[in-house]
Amino acid sequence: MSDNPLLLPWDAPYGLPPFGRLRPEHFEPALRDAMRRHREELAAIAGQAAAPDFDNTVAAFDGAGRLLARVAAVFYNLTSSATSPELQAVQRAMAGPMAAHDSAVYMDASLFARLDALHERRAALGLAPEQRRLLERIHLDFVRAGARLEPARQTRYAQVMEELAQLTTRFAQNVLHDESSWQLALQGEPDLAGLPGFVRAAARQAAADRGLDGHVITLSRSLVVPFLSFSERRDLRERAWRAWIGRGENPGEHDNREVARAILRLRNEQARLHGHACFADHALVDTMAGTRDAVQGLLGEVWPRALVAVERERQALQEAMAAEGAAGEIEPWDWRYWAEKVRRDRYAIDDAEVKPYFRLENMVAAAFDCAERLFGLRFVPRDDLPVYHPDVRAYEVRERRDGGDAVIGVFLQDNFARAGKRSGAWMSSLRWQSRNGGAQLPVILNNNNFAKGGADEPALLSLDDARTLFHEFGHGLHGLLSDVTYDRLSGTRVLRDFVELPSQIFEHWITEPEVLQRHARHWRSGEPIPPVLVQRLHAARRFGQGYETVRYTASALVDMAVHSLQTPEPPADLCAFEAELLREKGLPHGVGLNHRLVHFQHLFAGSSYAAGYYVYLWAEVLDADGYDAFVEAGSPFAPEVARRLRRHIYASGNSVEPGAAFAAFRGRPPTVRPLLEKRGLLESEPA
Ligand SMILES: [Zn+2]
Repeated sequence: MSDNPLLLPWDAPYGLPPFGRLRPEHFEPALRDAMRRHREELAAIAGQAAAPDFDNTVAAFDGAGRLLARVAAVFYNLTSSATSPELQAVQRAMAGPMAAHDSAVYMDASLFARLDALHERRAALGLAPEQRRLLERIHLDFVRAGARLEPARQTRYAQVMEELAQLTTRFAQNVLHDESSWQLALQGEPDLAGLPGFVRAAARQAAADRGLDGHVITLSRSLVVPFLSFSERRDLRERAWRAWIGRGENPGEHDNREVARAILRLRNEQARLHGHACFADHALVDTMAGTRDAVQGLLGEVWPRALVAVERERQALQEAMAAEGAAGEIEPWDWRYWAEKVRRDRYAIDDAEVKPYFRLENMVAAAFDCAERLFGLRFVPRDDLPVYHPDVRAYEVRERRDGGDAVIGVFLQDNFARAGKRSGAWMSSLRWQSRNGGAQLPVILNNNNFAKGGADEPALLSLDDARTLFHEFGHGLHGLLSDVTYDRLSGTRVLRDFVELPSQIFEHWITEPEVLQRHARHWRSGEPIPPVLVQRLHAARRFGQGYETVRYTASALVDMAVHSLQTPEPPADLCAFEAELLREKGLPHGVGLNHRLVHFQHLFAGSSYAAGYYVYLWAEVLDADGYDAFVEAGSPFAPEVARRLRRHIYASGNSVEPGAAFAAFRGRPPTVRPLLEKRGLLESEPA
């Protein structure tokens, strides 16, 4: 134990983890020891003779378990970004004990009695608003984790949570297995037909990463999506598509069909133990939306309009097919290919023409530049800081303050796809900003899954990739700009239908003409992107919104439907349930889903987005309306609007009720119209 680097003082700058010395076998003993210490800290809070007050109970609870939080954060970051069979085994072994630890904490009767007594008298305690918010938040965390259940039910509840933790771990590992075990080797020029240089370069790099010659297509989104968009080989597109949407549905030990059913069965039981008819009701109580009706109301505003828009797009694609003599109905593996052709013909937009202007390093610089112009931040590279993989870049985040230059946090960015890293893009933290028990600087990570450049070309992004980079960076700023007193209220630890506001609003800057003019420069010539190309990009922006909106909303509808079932037993065949629902809703055949239940990590790799995939749309109502504040002020960097955005949205964490935070920023509650406008859905009124 004494030589376990996780348990020795972390003496790297900013208390960063000793990444270079960590081995998989360090985690289990460190996690167990950290859990034990956390329980000791809590026993001291619960067992003290003094009557409960805010400091000795609420603030003390918030400040307890720091070691566990730090060790667990390192562990989860590695199992997401740089895992190995050894780490996966630890993850499977520890999922149950970690869930059991949480249940033990939140079902501790003497601790809850102290909190409950304070909560009863909260109006009379003379608390500052943030203190009151913390007390209410922690009290609700206890209640939602089963603190009020009778003892026999608590025992069962803890079992349910333990089994859920094991199953969600398995679900995620199964998806990773299917993603990393499939590849399509392209044999010579006939197999490469239609692929532009950047796709060939990425496919060559993917082959090299696997120790192969030639070109390989993998199920990494950054490779499979361009392949589906450009490959002239319909047969190969079909193979790639089927493998992509078949993740999690392959018979054998990595099949997720029964895993997802078991998760749904347990979630239904979890909801019933709380007295709710279905999991969605239990999940939605603790959100801005509050009820299924509110969620369905928003999805219902968007869905019929999106169907009208996607039908217009489908007709355009079908015409393009006919014009080239391609026979038959458009299939899901055809959609992106023909959409790309229509975009090229109608708007003279070609990804292969656009991408050279979106060099990854320039887009990173663009994000940093926007953060500087909006909030006065500077990102200073620190290549000497310890990181967990050579791809990771470390930055000190500085701000000019009182004539000096203060460090406000550390930012780690891990941009590339590789084996052992899960798909998608996400933000996480190694440490939250807080002042409880001394100032604690945030250490924030961004993960993306971009394709590396090859020998002839640097890493180039599509406009969508650049938007993803800005999205995650927006989450990153939410963590870095956090300015609260307590850990539990810090950064992105907000209600989940608010959490996508800081990320989605930041996406708006990547399409601002003055940002593009400054940063979207051709990687070879250094020439800024021609204004005419920017105009065409804007004109083409709405084409494809029907497709994107329908696919997203369909996934949100499936999520709501499957979590709104009120029967204890889930449908016998989830894939049939999903297909039937989409038929009923009228999803056109050629669109296809790419988040099917069997690999839908948002829903089943954890529980935080279960009955919560709608949150992106919910937050989009807020970000579309919110960004209009800059439009109204006449500049994307209007200082007064930026100041309010920082103070009320990026800095306030969960210290303020989210509806009030938005209203304080915008001067009024949000309206849904800017969202419909932004997606080009206003002119798509259903007949
Ligand atoms: Zn996000």
